[in-house]
Amino acid sequence: MTVAEVVLREAVRQTDRNYSYKIPDELLGHIAPGDYVEVPFGRGNKPHKALVLSVRSMEDGASDIRIKEIGRLLQQGAVSSDMLPLIEEIARRFVCTRGDVITLMIPAFVGNGAVAKELYVRISNRDEAEKALEEGSLRSVTHINILEYLLKVPEVSKKVLMTTFKASDAQITLLRKKGYIETFKKETDPFGIEGKDEPERSSESPGSAVFRSEHTLNEEQEAACSRIRESYGRSRVFLLHGITGSGKTEVYLHCAGDIISSGGSVIYMVPEISLTPQTVSWINGRFGDTAAVLHSRLSDKQRAAEWGRIRRGEARIVVGPRSSVFAPVKDLKMIIVDEEHDPSYKSESFPRYNAKDIAAMRCLKTDSVLLLGSATPAVSSYYAAQNGFYELLKLTKRANPNAVLPDVIPVDMKVQIKEGAGELLSLPLRNAMAEAFSAGQQVILFLNRRGYSRTLICSECGTPCECPHCSVGMTLHNNKRSAGRLMICHYCGFTLPADKCVCRQCGGTKFTRTGIGTQQLEELLSELYPHEKVLRMDQDSTMRPGAHEEIISRFRNKEASILIGTQMIAKGHDFPDVTVVGILGADLISGSSDYRSSERCFQLITQASGRAGRSNHKGKVFLQSFKPASPLLLYAASQDYQAFYDAEINYRKATGLPPFKAVGEIMLSLPDEDDLSERIAVLSDYLHQLISSQPAKYGFELYGPMQSPIYELRGRYRNSFVIKAVNKSSLNAVFRQLMKDFDPSLYPISYDNDTSGI
Ligand code: ADP
Ligand code: ZN
Repeated sequence: MTVAEVVLREAVRQTDRNYSYKIPDELLGHIAPGDYVEVPFGRGNKPHKALVLSVRSMEDGASDIRIKEIGRLLQQGAVSSDMLPLIEEIARRFVCTRGDVITLMIPAFVGNGAVAKELYVRISNRDEAEKALEEGSLRSVTHINILEYLLKVPEVSKKVLMTTFKASDAQITLLRKKGYIETFKKETDPFGIEGKDEPERSSESPGSAVFRSEHTLNEEQEAACSRIRESYGRSRVFLLHGITGSGKTEVYLHCAGDIISSGGSVIYMVPEISLTPQTVSWINGRFGDTAAVLHSRLSDKQRAAEWGRIRRGEARIVVGPRSSVFAPVKDLKMIIVDEEHDPSYKSESFPRYNAKDIAAMRCLKTDSVLLLGSATPAVSSYYAAQNGFYELLKLTKRANPNAVLPDVIPVDMKVQIKEGAGELLSLPLRNAMAEAFSAGQQVILFLNRRGYSRTLICSECGTPCECPHCSVGMTLHNNKRSAGRLMICHYCGFTLPADKCVCRQCGGTKFTRTGIGTQQLEELLSELYPHEKVLRMDQDSTMRPGAHEEIISRFRNKEASILIGTQMIAKGHDFPDVTVVGILGADLISGSSDYRSSERCFQLITQASGRAGRSNHKGKVFLQSFKPASPLLLYAASQDYQAFYDAEINYRKATGLPPFKAVGEIMLSLPDEDDLSERIAVLSDYLHQLISSQPAKYGFELYGPMQSPIYELRGRYRNSFVIKAVNKSSLNAVFRQLMKDFDPSLYPISYDNDTSGI
């Protein structure tokens, strides 16, 4: 008897084990590790989806009589062989079940369609069949035709065979009984569309198919490429640090070209779904129709088609956001992570995996090259490069010799407000905009709105309200219980009534929640520039599928001269005619309650400025802030990554923040506030006791409980702890202990061993 070891897709902690199922006769020889099957499970034998981990033969014996049979085969090769051994590792690293990992690896649509199992026919005894033809022992012309045909093809569906040769069921059965041919069941593709239906990939990029001419690499690019080339076939990590417009994409495409011409595959990750169409059009323009896209904005049908192309090895480069790290590619040789600093590579929902970590794990297993690229590397990545874990490659000049870095002009908004410009658009920015419009050029206004409504700034000097203990920005909460507004530090839990805030900069006691929002900005723009068309891109304007891409392509086609947006527009878009960029409210980007806020601020300003003057006109960037002389803004204005990094890494070292220590979060969320306060107290006692009994070498520090930054979400109230330790495994050990000791139905706790927003 042959049995398969499977793990259930819906595995919870108690069922996250291997289960054995007998492979039924008709599927013998057709089930292999990585296949996705349906199995009867539990007392009611309800069908469950499961992944086959291994196949083994077993002695038939009395004890095995109760072993159940696999119900049906849903998808062959649903998980590629290099990913199988990672399932366990990922589950451990991100504290989830193997079923949760399978959910990430196998999209929900797989196996949902009516999977047709068709009967196929192939030659079973070649010698006998040839002999029969030679000796003329076959009486029927149909039989002769069928055998001659089957000797030439590997297999054919019985239906096709019958219609092609006008054969009857009995005729085919006769050939089978004589032992020339055999029939077998084969699963056809989900929806029966794999490979047939065009996935409408062309419609995905309306008007945005920008042609990208291939360049001869410049010296720096060549040097980077040749270092990478020397590492093909080995698992190495490169950090390509190149200023915006230095030609990193050109390096990615060259390397990707090498890999696919030697028969390998590439996963090319981008931080935003909206960046996939341009990347795909560059790839297909250069290498033919070899790119596939995978992301959540495709329909199930499109995704199924793309997924099939990838699985069958027809598509050699997979482009997509973080989820594409799980793509079932064949012969993986390289993973590219563009804009590697981007927070979107970390999942904000359970399981909170980091696609960069998984990329590294996958590259290690497959001897592939991991290429991380950014103009503003994550502090942790740069640290790894500085310490020899990654190899650092640098591009220091803009690739297009006519495109130089823009001038970044700091603007002091305190002065501007005094001069009557208001708090939105400074006078120098207005002048530059007017000039740009008369020259037929475009303007981007960057407004990181999220930070605004949730923090207060000093009315005197513009400094955001900061925690006196942590010097990170505090977050404004409307608290129903205490019937007032509270400022809370999400780092240490320090809480202060909003009317008791004192400015740490100037001692001022008046704070405002500045009302700058995109709407107000739009109104002002239409007043000032009634003839200019404005496009807006933020979470609200991009809800509808395709809206994102549409805004980008309309702006690129110059249907509008102003684009307003949140951080979404700061990412990798290439708009050749943009010469002026305004960054509004720069200091509030750094004023959020996140230890990475300085890093994010530097990155956002650099990326946003990188949108200016990418082709032949020199760009100007206006950095509007209340504190133009703060070191962070000065580093950003001079685009001095090294200076920023040096200051930041020293700060992190001194305060025990990543990469020196791991920071995690434990969050309890409940629909009832009273339940929450009761149980959080129990949890708090338990945790403080647990932590204080641990040896010092683990470096545990526990903060909280405190209200989560978003206290009320979807009808649930949330409290959390911040916990630090020497590394993530120490944090995971605490998480596992909690899972053992607290019933998840009473204590729905979520865990994160690498939190960014706290
Ligand atoms: P990055 O990805 O670093 O922001 P890109 O790869 O988008 O930079 O390159 C910026 C611009 O420079 C693009 O318009 C690209 O076509 C051009 N470019 C890239 N490499 C070269 C080169 N070797 N010679 C001339 N132009 C180049
Ligand atoms: Zn604090």
